Amino acid sequence: MARRKIVAGNWKMNMTPSEAVELVNTLKPLVANEEVDVVFCVPAIDIIPVVEACKGTNIQVGAENMYYEEKGAYTGEIAPNMLTDAGVKYVVLGHSERREYFAETNETVNKKMLKAFEHGITPIMCCGETLEQREQGVTMDFIRQQVKVGFQGVTADQAKTAVIAYEPIWAIGTGKTATTEQAQEVCADIRACIAEVYDQATAEAIRIQYGGSVNAKTAPELFAQNDIDGGLVGGASLKPDFGQIVNYK
Ligand code: PEP
Repeated sequence: MARRKIVAGNWKMNMTPSEAVELVNTLKPLVANEEVDVVFCVPAIDIIPVVEACKGTNIQVGAENMYYEEKGAYTGEIAPNMLTDAGVKYVVLGHSERREYFAETNETVNKKMLKAFEHGITPIMCCGETLEQREQGVTMDFIRQQVKVGFQGVTADQAKTAVIAYEPIWAIGTGKTATTEQAQEVCADIRACIAEVYDQATAEAIRIQYGGSVNAKTAPELFAQNDIDGGLVGGASLKPDFGQIVNYK
């Protein structure tokens, strides 16, 4: 089954609102590609100006996080309907930086996944192992647990629309990209895990990205793999290189 590629930038905690608009204006012509879904996942304060700046382009806007309650006394959090009202279509959930620095767990990621689907926001659920786990040979046990708990209560129809980003923690922001073989192997196993939890049709529909120091040089080979449906890109998403990554062919 031919899945549409999806290339998403994760801006992390970079870009003030005015810098964000400037960056969108620089990247807009470079990421024009009707064959690929292009998403800019941006800091909450940049969402409204970025949505505005992306009007009339092929770029969709994502958030980098979201809370799982509807509203109320949760100082500093962002509710799902705040995102949809602002024009957000995607949300990154369970990024390893949020798991490490902000106590995000498989259980909180799961609550956010359910809430995102309820509001029609497509989650980009991140998973990935540490270097220690890879060396101990427990990579897939760890990732399968992240995926199984993350998708608890998610229906097959919802799962078909989801995006999973496989991001080995040792490759994020380090300049160390996983080899094409390592990335393909884990993405194939994530797909097999989805087939076990749901069915083959769901596994074939769900999109799985690779993330971890993707750049213009590594993207073409990575994205050509059978089970890699695009990338989640950090550092390089803030540069004109992102255009080359989107137009990887
Ligand atoms: C990320 O932030 O999700 C990421 C993959 O970062 P980088 O591309 O900089 O490694």
